[in-house]
Amino acid sequence: PPTGEKYEYQAEVSRLMDLIVNSLYSNKEVFLRELISNASDACDKLRFLSVTEPALLKDNVDFDIRIQTDKDNGIVTITDTGIGMTRQELIDCLGTIAQSGTAKFLKALKDSKDAGGDNNLIGQFGVGFYSAFLVADRVVVSTKSPKSDKQYVWEGEANASSYTIREETEADKVIPRGTRLTLYLKRDDKGFAHPEKIQKLVKNYSQFVSFPIYTWQEKGYTKEEDPAEAKKDGEEGSAEKKKKTKTVVERYWDWELTNETQPIWLRNPKEVSTELYNEFYKNTFNEYLEPLASSHFTTEGEVEFRSILYVPAVSSSGKDDMVNPKTKNIRLYVKRVFISDDFDGELFPRYLSFIKGVVDSNDLPLNVSREILQESRIVRIMRKRLVRKAFDMILGISMSENREDYEKFWDNYGKYLKLGCIEDRENHKRIAPLLRFFSSQSEDYIIGLDEYVENMKPDQKDIYYIASDSVTSAKNTPFLERLMEKDLEVLFLVDPIDEVAIQNLKSYKEKNFVDISKEDLDLGEKDEEKEKAMKQEFGQTCDWIKKRLGDKVASVQISNRLSTSPCVLVSGKFGWSANMERLMKSQTM
Ligand code: ADP
Ligand code: MG
Repeated sequence: PPTGEKYEYQAEVSRLMDLIVNSLYSNKEVFLRELISNASDACDKLRFLSVTEPALLKDNVDFDIRIQTDKDNGIVTITDTGIGMTRQELIDCLGTIAQSGTAKFLKALKDSKDAGGDNNLIGQFGVGFYSAFLVADRVVVSTKSPKSDKQYVWEGEANASSYTIREETEADKVIPRGTRLTLYLKRDDKGFAHPEKIQKLVKNYSQFVSFPIYTWQEKGYTKEEDPAEAKKDGEEGSAEKKKKTKTVVERYWDWELTNETQPIWLRNPKEVSTELYNEFYKNTFNEYLEPLASSHFTTEGEVEFRSILYVPAVSSSGKDDMVNPKTKNIRLYVKRVFISDDFDGELFPRYLSFIKGVVDSNDLPLNVSREILQESRIVRIMRKRLVRKAFDMILGISMSENREDYEKFWDNYGKYLKLGCIEDRENHKRIAPLLRFFSSQSEDYIIGLDEYVENMKPDQKDIYYIASDSVTSAKNTPFLERLMEKDLEVLFLVDPIDEVAIQNLKSYKEKNFVDISKEDLDLGEKDEEKEKAMKQEFGQTCDWIKKRLGDKVASVQISNRLSTSPCVLVSGKFGWSANMERLMKSQTM
């Protein structure tokens, strides 16, 4: 065969290939899932482009994936009618690591190594194209992009540091469009070239692929054949005649549809098990942990769409990315056609950017763009419904019998909900019951506002809080003394964003939030007589202290809010709390 131009892999690729081959050794069959998922992605991409540019499809409008096996020679070929690759794309995609799935694998590998190394975990990961080398010595990728009039062949071998690219010249290998992968299996892995084996793997791993997957299968049908003599001896009895007919099995090979192409979100929620939803989630989002919750729903009427939403077990964007989330968490479909996973910001507010899922609309145009989405009334309605469903799902977790479930959620996403208090006034009613805090009566586990309210004293009107930098310093503050004495519970706001969030809420169930460090704290225990006496006794002392401190304080007053400490510094009614001041300082300096 003609030899191609030689290229070196990026150093990371070689390292990655080593890693994959060594750590996934016991889970080789993932290669098929990975390659089918690439074929499916390629079909998605072209189908999307062809909406506005039908000419790209040329004569073949079908999108499908075909897997052929040659068990005698140990060869598997996977052919798709997707977008294909140009020469440059072959270099960029198959010679370097710039891909999310692969980067994620490397990170998981590192994390799991740090945590003592769990190779099973890695086995569940999407490792992409290079997983072909788990089972193959040699991989040949012949591909044609609609952007190019030439078909190119990429060829690589296991354990090599370079690959080659050449133009396809063999006439019988030319394809109208898409990609054909040929895997020359390793000696010990030739079992993967058995048609039944491939069929089984497709059914197991690729059940959520929405394009038809055909496998090349041997079939047979039986037919009755009259032996030649039987025809001649027509006068013999019919019973005798039957005896002489022969049943023969005709064998032939043909494509067989191997997967179910109806997307899971189109099925009846009553007929889909949690396991299946979770399986779909892991497949679709390349996740290895089960989600914390899922929600499958259909809305009808004014706007029609279907969706499955998930709360991931851990935030994939990281807590720091909350403000500028660049997620690909929502896969938008229009009438079953995958449009983009780039419209998260149009479908969810950023404080819910951690939600993952699929949304399939019947009302949006297929050529939908960001601009269209932003202007669309339909999208505004969808967004509202999605947000509501997301809250229902989170509320579900909070009501779980297992307290830990919500603690896990809160640990990962508490900050997001607090951001929601600041950014989404309209949904305060939905967010507030989901908030959690430590308190003077619950220093070790977080409580919700409902629990606080239930625990309020009969004559208590307000919800008390103190902002501080830790539970320890909150519980040692002198402001707490009187309230502790009266057995009033005080929320500890120990996250910098807590105080702003609470101030945005203002109240919960008609009870105002009150900062116990502010000057006008009224615990409803005025004793006028006593106050008068105190003022007389200590009035001059106060004047004297004020004189000594001068401008450093606004005023010096007698109060009844302490029980053991002699004095306390409080913030003015309209001023910043000490915590807030600390925050502002840390931000401007
Ligand atoms: P990922 O799928 O996470 O992007 P992969 O390693 O599986 O990473 O694939 C790398 C890239 O190679 C893909 O993003 C895609 O651009 C390209 N690619 C792989 N397989 C195909 C295919 N069958 N058709 C077109 N492009 C492909
Ligand atoms: Mg892939």
